[in-house]
Amino acid sequence: MLLNCGQPLLRHTDVPPRVIENFILTGYRFPNYSLRDCLLSAFRPTNETGNFWTHFLPVFIFTYHFVEVFGWRGAPDASAPFFYPLWNYFLGVFCLLMASSMAHLLNSMSLVVREVCFFVDYGTISAYTVGSSLAYYYYIHPRAGVADRGTQNDTFMYLSTGGKGGVMMPEFRMFFEMLYIPSAFVVAIICVLSCCNTRQRWRTHRYVIRTLVFLLPFLVSSTPIFYRLLTTSPYSAASPSLSASTSMASFFYRHCLWLLVSALFNISKLPERLAPGRFDIWGHSHQWFHCCTFLSILDELHMIKAEVRAILLHPDLVLPPNSLSQLPGPSLSSTYGVMLLLQTSIVSIILWFSWHANRIYGPQRDQLDQEQRKRQ
Ligand SMILES: [Zn+2]
Repeated sequence: MLLNCGQPLLRHTDVPPRVIENFILTGYRFPNYSLRDCLLSAFRPTNETGNFWTHFLPVFIFTYHFVEVFGWRGAPDASAPFFYPLWNYFLGVFCLLMASSMAHLLNSMSLVVREVCFFVDYGTISAYTVGSSLAYYYYIHPRAGVADRGTQNDTFMYLSTGGKGGVMMPEFRMFFEMLYIPSAFVVAIICVLSCCNTRQRWRTHRYVIRTLVFLLPFLVSSTPIFYRLLTTSPYSAASPSLSASTSMASFFYRHCLWLLVSALFNISKLPERLAPGRFDIWGHSHQWFHCCTFLSILDELHMIKAEVRAILLHPDLVLPPNSLSQLPGPSLSSTYGVMLLLQTSIVSIILWFSWHANRIYGPQRDQLDQEQRKRQ
C-alpha cells in the first residue's frame, strides 16, 4: 500500500514542457507533489527513483572509505589542522551527493522548487571542486611533504633534494602559492553562474554547456597532479613515502576515465536515445552519469589518501604546528574560511536565480493546481 500511495505517474504529454526529459516518455510525477509525496516517491518506480538512489547510497560508501584515514599509524587526531583540508573535501563530496539526490527527489514539489533544486545541485558541484583543490593543495602540491633543505636533518635523509619535483620553476611556484586556490574559487563561481543560466537561457545546448563548464574546474584544480605526473616524485627511492604515493597516478587516470564516460552519458543521452521509452524507469543515461561521477570521486579519494599516507610516513612532515615542510600548513581561515566565503557567494547567486525563477514560474503554480484537480 505504501508503494501505491501518492499520485498516478504520467506520460511526457501530460506534464509541463519544462519537466520533460529527452527520450523519457513515462514515469513522470506531476509538479505539485507535497513533501511527503516526494519523499515516498523514493520507494516508487518513477523516472527519478534511480537518479535519487545512485547518489544517495554512495554517501555511505564514500564515508566508509573516508574514515579509514584516521585509523592509520602516525595519523594525528581527526580534529588536527593537518586534516582540515580533508574534512573540507569530505564536506564538498557529502553536500554534492546529498544535494543531488535530494534535488532529484524533491523537484516535483513545484516548478519553482524544481529550479531551486537544480541551482543548489550546481552550487554544490562547484563547492566540491574547491574542496578538492584544497585537498590537492595541501596533500598533492609539488612541495607537500618536501622538507626545506635549509632546515633538514636526519629525519629527512630519505627525501629527494635534487629531483625536478624538489626544484620548482619560479612561474609554477608563483602559480601554486599565489594563484591556485583563488583560481579554483573564481572558476567555481563562473560554473555556478553559467549552469544556473542554462536553466533560463541557452536551453538548446544545455547539456553540452554544463559538461564543458565543469571541464574548466577539473583542469584548474588538477594542475598539482599534472605537475606531479610530468616531473619526478619529490620522494627519493629510499623513502617509504615513494611507494605509498606511486598509486596516485593510476587512481588519477581512472578518475579521469570515469569523468570522461560520465560526460559521454550526459551529452549522448544513451541508451534511451536508441529506444525512447525503454529506459524510462531504470537504466537511462542520468543514472549511469551518476554512477560514473561517483566512481570518479571514489578514485579521487583513493588518490588523495595515497598522498596523505605518503606524508604520514614521515611524521615530522605532517603539516604544522612545527612542520618542516615548505608549505604553510592549513589553518581555519585557509580551509574552512575559504569554503565559507565560497558557500556564501554561491548561496547569494542561488537566491538571485531563485527569485528570478519564482517570477517566471510562480504564476503557473495556480494553473497547475487547477489542472491537477481536474485530473482527480
Ligand atoms: Zn543528477
